[in-house]
Amino acid sequence: MCLSSLTTSPCSASSTDSSSLSGAASKRNDMMENNLQEDFSSEDMLVAKNSMPEDDPNGNTLHDAREIRWGPQHAGAKLLASQYTKEKRFQEIISIILCIIFMIYNFFFICRYFDVRNCYLIIPSALLGILTADLASGIVHWCADTWGSVDMPFIGRNFLRPFREHHIDPTSITRHDFVETNGDNFAVTVPYLLYMAYKFTYWNDTDLRKIYNFEVYMFLLAIFVSMTNQFHKWSHTYFGLPSYIVFLQRYHVILPRKHHRLHHVVPHDTYFCITTGWLNWPLEMIKFWPWLESIVETYTGAKPRSDDFAWAQKTEKVHCY
Ligand SMILES: [Zn+2]
Ligand SMILES: [Zn+2]
Repeated sequence: MCLSSLTTSPCSASSTDSSSLSGAASKRNDMMENNLQEDFSSEDMLVAKNSMPEDDPNGNTLHDAREIRWGPQHAGAKLLASQYTKEKRFQEIISIILCIIFMIYNFFFICRYFDVRNCYLIIPSALLGILTADLASGIVHWCADTWGSVDMPFIGRNFLRPFREHHIDPTSITRHDFVETNGDNFAVTVPYLLYMAYKFTYWNDTDLRKIYNFEVYMFLLAIFVSMTNQFHKWSHTYFGLPSYIVFLQRYHVILPRKHHRLHHVVPHDTYFCITTGWLNWPLEMIKFWPWLESIVETYTGAKPRSDDFAWAQKTEKVHCY
C-alpha cells in the first residue's frame, strides 16, 4: 500500500455511520493533539481511523465493540502473549548481559584509539552505521511481518510471534519490560561485539589503527541495532515519556510516534524501518517494499502477510452491556 492509498484501506470501518465516525475521529484527533503536542492534519485522521488509538488506553472506544479489532482483549493477542516462555526469557537475559559487557569493553578501546584528526572519516562512519541499522531494521521487520507463520518450527514462536502480537496489540510493547523488549536485538549484536573485543585485545596497534573507522561503523551499527526495539517502544508510548526522549523524537533523531503510526495502518505494508525511520520516506518513494514482495511472490508463490491477516481475524465476539 502506498501512503496515497490510505483512504482505501480495507479496514476502514465501513459499517460505521459516517457522521458519527467523523465526529469521533475529530474528537480523537483533538486528544492526540493534546497528548503528542504535535500538529495533526487530515491525513493523521485517516491514520487514526485505521490503526489502534494508542493514546486511548482502552483502545476500542471508537467502535461498537461487537468485535475487538485491536488491543490486549483481542483473542489473537491474548493467545500470542501467552506463548512467551521462561526459556525464551532466560536466553534474553543472557544476551543482554553479554551485549552490555562487550559494549563497555569495546567502547574503552574506541576511546583509546580515537584520533581527532580523523574526525572527517569517523563521523561519516558513525552516521553510516546508524543508517545501516535503520535499513536492517526495515528488512528484518518486513521479512517477519510479511512472510512465514507462527506455526513454523522454532522461528515461528520465538521470532515471528512478537511481530504478529504487535500488529493486533500495538500497546503490548509498552507493557513489556526492558528484557522482553530488547532481548532479541541485543542477541543479534553479541557475535560481532565478541569478535571486535577479540581484535582489540589481541591485534597490534598498527593493525588496529587501520581498521579503526570500520570498527566505529560496526560499533554504532551494533548500538543502534541493540536499541531499535527500545526506540520502537518509545514510539508507542504516549504517556510519561521523559522530555529528552520526546525531544529526540520531535527532531527525528530516533523514531517519532507520529511517523511510526503510518506503519500501523492496516495492512501494515510500509514504513518498516523502526530505528530512526530516516529511510522510510526514500524507500516509499522508490516503492522498495512492493518491488521486493513482487519478486518473492513470483518465485515462491507465497502471498504477502497471509499469516498476519489470519491472526488479525482471530477475533471473538464480546457482549455489549
Ligand atoms: Zn510491523
Ligand atoms: Zn510498532
